[in-house]
Amino acid sequence: MTDIAVVGGGISGVACAAALARAGLSVDLLDKGHRLGGRLAAQTLRDTGTPYDGRLVDVGASYFVADDPGFAAVVDDWLERGLARRWTDTFHLADASGLHGTKTGPWRFAAPRGLRSLVEDLAAQLPSDLVAIAHPRDVESVQTAGDGVRVDGRDYRAVALCGPDPQMDRLVPDPQAPMWEPVMALTAVMAERDWVDMDGAFVNDDAVLTFIADDGRRRGDDAPVLVAHSGPVFAAGHLDEPMTAAPMMLAALERILGIGNPDWFSVKRWTYARPAFARLDEFGLEGRIGRAGDAWCGEPRTQSAWISGNALGQALAAELA
Ligand SMILES: Cc1cc2nc3c(=O)[nH]c(=O)nc-3n(C[C@H](O)[C@H](O)[C@H](O)COP(=O)(O)OP(=O)(O)OC[C@H]3O[C@@H](n4cnc5c(N)ncnc54)[C@H](O)[C@@H]3O)c2cc1C
Repeated sequence: MTDIAVVGGGISGVACAAALARAGLSVDLLDKGHRLGGRLAAQTLRDTGTPYDGRLVDVGASYFVADDPGFAAVVDDWLERGLARRWTDTFHLADASGLHGTKTGPWRFAAPRGLRSLVEDLAAQLPSDLVAIAHPRDVESVQTAGDGVRVDGRDYRAVALCGPDPQMDRLVPDPQAPMWEPVMALTAVMAERDWVDMDGAFVNDDAVLTFIADDGRRRGDDAPVLVAHSGPVFAAGHLDEPMTAAPMMLAALERILGIGNPDWFSVKRWTYARPAFARLDEFGLEGRIGRAGDAWCGEPRTQSAWISGNALGQALAAELA
């Protein structure tokens, strides 16, 4: 019998599987996506009619920070191997009318081959004698069974549910789970770089946008590609037909950056982009059912998801020892 089923192959699930395998436990890592990575997502441009077909765009998380020693060690390894890059410590500030100065903060990291490549790298390092990765594999049921759990009819000693609460609540409801907010992510391929020199901009007090990333600067190839994220209220009004969000998002980009129409654009819908708040605990564990992801560790972000998954894996390993 395989020891543990990890449901979710985003960064929290892969970190959990890695911690379990380090303790010598066997794992089935199951994800419903065609690729691993979850919200560290990249889209390949196709049929855009621009020179950028084949180029990747980060359409999920914009970047990550690394101030936790454990996660920083993982990031240092990516940096040494050229998989991650220091993107910037300075973003512009904007409101509905335009850009107004800059703000410096922690280093933000990005990945030349897209953030998803980092999760795929962690997955590639999992020992194949202990971890079996299956995707696309949409897990449909989790039940307790004796001392263990049954996942889609297969028995395990425990299960780790690693991802957004609304997706995992379909399997095992958690009445304490936070609400989750949607985001629309607009990708705009421009003819040329004719906006102010910037890496990205936090947009405050705008009815449509919250953040704009210069994907060319982020990925390091200087392609004239922008990715804009909407606020949750605006996104909620366009969940059924994401492309209906495009006109207002493009108009907001024009207002803020002074740019014209793009050569190509698309909108990616994130129904569960981020939790409204993150619990302070690192993970949840009730009986043989664990939960991890970015709705833990006090701050909903990539680093929290890695810490949460890693901590849940260690706790399950101690529990099953
Ligand atoms: C638009 C957007 C912008 C963001 N910006 C930032 C940012 O700037 N900085 C930052 O640090 N973070 C950012 N984030 C958050 C970051 O992406 C997440 O914190 C991180 O990716 C969470 O990883 P996870 O493994 O917990 O969840 P996920 O990446 O969501 O992984 C969960 C996985 O579970 C799988 N799954 C779900 N249900 C099932 C099922 N029934 N069976 C099998 N598999 C299933 C999914 O396919 C998915 O791959 C952003 C997210 C979004 C969407």
